[in-house]
Amino acid sequence: MNVPLLDLKAQYRTIKDEVLAVTQELYENQRFILGPEVEKLEEEVARYCHTEYAVGVSSGTDALLISLMAAGIGPGDEVITSPYTFFATVGSIARVGATPVFVDIREDTYNIDPQAISDKITERTKAIIPVHLYGQCCDMDPILELAQVHDLVVIEDAAQAIGAEYKDKRAGSMGDMGCFSFFPSKNLGAFGDGGMVTTSSDILYKKLKILRVHGSDPKYYHKVIGGNFRLDALQAAILRVKLAHLDQWTTARRSNARRYRELFSNEGLDTSIMLPAEKNGRHIYNQFIIAVESRRDELREFLNEAGIGTEVYYPVPMHLQPCFEYLNAGKGDFAKAEAAAEKTLALPIYSELTDEQLAYVVRKIKTFYSS
Ligand SMILES: *Cc1c(COP(=O)(O)O)cnc(C)c1O
Repeated sequence: MNVPLLDLKAQYRTIKDEVLAVTQELYENQRFILGPEVEKLEEEVARYCHTEYAVGVSSGTDALLISLMAAGIGPGDEVITSPYTFFATVGSIARVGATPVFVDIREDTYNIDPQAISDKITERTKAIIPVHLYGQCCDMDPILELAQVHDLVVIEDAAQAIGAEYKDKRAGSMGDMGCFSFFPSKNLGAFGDGGMVTTSSDILYKKLKILRVHGSDPKYYHKVIGGNFRLDALQAAILRVKLAHLDQWTTARRSNARRYRELFSNEGLDTSIMLPAEKNGRHIYNQFIIAVESRRDELREFLNEAGIGTEVYYPVPMHLQPCFEYLNAGKGDFAKAEAAAEKTLALPIYSELTDEQLAYVVRKIKTFYSS
């Protein structure tokens, strides 16, 4: 049997006719940059994320970058975030000239530990970027409270978390801005790169729109320096087709996660292997992450030979990346992030997986740990 980590072709087969219809239309009218499709997608994403506004941008990375720019963050400022995230979170902070300040994660959710944040707040701290890793929201109440007390901007990195909820609030609606990615492997994936910033602030919305087009306002007049952060109409049109299916796909991912739990429990593996914790709301399972006490890389190799795709998100925490050596953090400084990097493994969780495939994955893990 073959169980890839993600099978986008299986998803495409279910929406092919719709996608071809909307893209055909765009080929005919030849309007490729921003325009009505992007505006409609922005309205739909804002509604979906329970915010006033959404601004379509070129990628999740650019969503983070433009948000930091809109918040006026730059040299001399400190931004608190997790060391256990995709590179873009921390890369964006450094690219605006600010200093990333790391706070270790919680062992159960792999998200930033709110209890450890206040120790890192200084008079230079300007923002917190909580990352809703794997599709589960951070524990936001204590984070928002700290932000309120210390007057900090909160930028949610919701790249992996569209539709995730924390106590009935949607990812991207709790902070000042929410950043989403439409990279193909995200739950709402484009046919290329794309991203979105959500906000309910009129002021930030206006700034984001201006920064997206090189800071131009009106056209060819610049009070600020922005970038080319525009979203393609083609991507927007495809994303609108896919957004209509998103809840159904999320339901299927959540049901696969439930099935995994039953299967792990039936095989007696749920005590030795840590399954994802579900805390405070709706986990959308962009990734289904297990943590094993030993032989993670061997397990990965074994599953690969059995036709099962897996991935390690992420093998090197950000404080140990050579490019961030200047931050003077070393091994042992963020022990929980380092442990997660050694123990975690992403299993296939995409919507179209069959019961047989799920059972096969768990059976093979059982076989590995029985030998
Ligand atoms: C994917 C991702 C990003 C970056 O998104 P791109 O669209 O690939 O630029 C940022 N943060 C996190 C947590 C991500 O998973």
